[in-house]
Amino acid sequence: MLVDTHCHLSFPDFDSDRKEIIKRMTAEGVRLLIDPGIDVPSSRKSVELAAEYEFIYANVGLHPHEASASVADEIFAELEILARSPKVVAIGEIGLDYHYPDHNKTAQQNAFRQMLRVARSLDLPVVIHCRDAWEDTLRILYEERHSSLRGMMHCFSGDTAIAKECIKIGFKLSIPGTLTYKRSLLPEVIRAVSLDDILTETDAPYLAPVPFRGKRNEPAYVRFVTTAIAEIREITLHNAAEHILKNSIELFRLASH
Ligand SMILES: [Zn+2]
Ligand SMILES: [Zn+2]
Repeated sequence: MLVDTHCHLSFPDFDSDRKEIIKRMTAEGVRLLIDPGIDVPSSRKSVELAAEYEFIYANVGLHPHEASASVADEIFAELEILARSPKVVAIGEIGLDYHYPDHNKTAQQNAFRQMLRVARSLDLPVVIHCRDAWEDTLRILYEERHSSLRGMMHCFSGDTAIAKECIKIGFKLSIPGTLTYKRSLLPEVIRAVSLDDILTETDAPYLAPVPFRGKRNEPAYVRFVTTAIAEIREITLHNAAEHILKNSIELFRLASH
């Protein structure tokens, strides 16, 4: 049983063939999918999709790209209300993204802190998007740290030292299809950490793994990610998948939903 812990299945990219995509993922053995939000409308769609399918769960979030200008207080209030919906298992995606030159660091950091506080007030894990911003992301997590802070680094892109730092403060590393790209650092990270700290995702429609690189990604392809992890760890696909499923159920407390 495979898990896609981060897939934008509710995005318009899948409007024309969502049912087919779900059929294909089920046929490939993907039996658990988490659909994250990036703002209020997309978070609402995640919640709606999760209500439709028993094996889909939702995250409510505010992506750093949507926080590049200052965000009104009402938005945070609206997100907090949405996050109380059934099957919302985390706050995400939230975080920092300094990749594009027009980013507004202050606005992103403020939104990130506000959303961490929403997660804290609802006792939910957080799903972090971090791109080219490890120093500030880890600093803010340390500053906002509390006893029940936990979550996942989605599309983990750091090195082994950063991986260990994240694990130390209560985070799991979610491994995307970039693991299959030639110059990926992820095989080294996967060798260096415990399998308890690893999750799998597609981030579809983005980041399709080899042999579909450059095409639209879909949840069925999480099989390529899980297979690559099993090969690196020299275990069977079945063992890797079961272990990752257990990690996902624990982190997102799925047994109680
Ligand atoms: Zn992201
Ligand atoms: Zn995403």
